Amino acid sequence: MNIQDYGLSFGSLKPISKNNIKRVVIHHFGTGKGYTIKDAHRDHSSSSRNHAGITEGLGYNGAVDIDGTKVKGRMWNQGAHCRGYNRDSFGVVTPGNFNEETPSEKVLQSMAEFTAFVLTECGLEVNKKTVVGHRDLGSTSCPGDNFDMDAFRDRVKKVINGEEEEEEMFEPSYRSLREDTIDLLEKWSSDEQRNPINKEYAEKVKKGEATNSDVIAALFSAIKRGDIL
Ligand SMILES: [Zn+2]
Repeated sequence: MNIQDYGLSFGSLKPISKNNIKRVVIHHFGTGKGYTIKDAHRDHSSSSRNHAGITEGLGYNGAVDIDGTKVKGRMWNQGAHCRGYNRDSFGVVTPGNFNEETPSEKVLQSMAEFTAFVLTECGLEVNKKTVVGHRDLGSTSCPGDNFDMDAFRDRVKKVINGEEEEEEMFEPSYRSLREDTIDLLEKWSSDEQRNPINKEYAEKVKKGEATNSDVIAALFSAIKRGDIL
């Protein structure tokens, strides 16, 4: 998995063994989106800038940026993100305040991938004890009321099981519609100006192997080439 290095430099950190990690703790910053990972790193590098007195740099082990980029935090060193649980937890944070807004699909997916990576590295399964929100361990609303931990655990499970969203197959309800589609696809590939790939799509439709995306792509390609008008 690709975890970007934003070049954050940390003070003296204590390594943690993967064998000792019992859970991944999910956080939000709880601030507006303008507050970045680098801002948090700066604030966690000076005790005068945060009430928790964190001084060694970004207190989280990992982060996911607003565009879904996975970012290195303290990684396999002890974090400072969840009082009483820092020695045996891996904290992953993302910018935003999910009491106010809803996490984006991109961010959720990257958080799930990061979490799945950590669980796999540590030999842990997904359950209510191994994947938790900060609020499950302390008196805080973090990672926000709109961050659904059950749905998130399901998403992590899917990542671990390698399940991808099933592509919907092209299955018109009438035989004639299916035949018309095949006819058109064949017509659209009948000479050199037309797209030869449509012949492959026609074959796929015949065998029932075409997805809706295949047929939509062929349609747009035909519109662009002026085959339809
Ligand atoms: Zn938190």
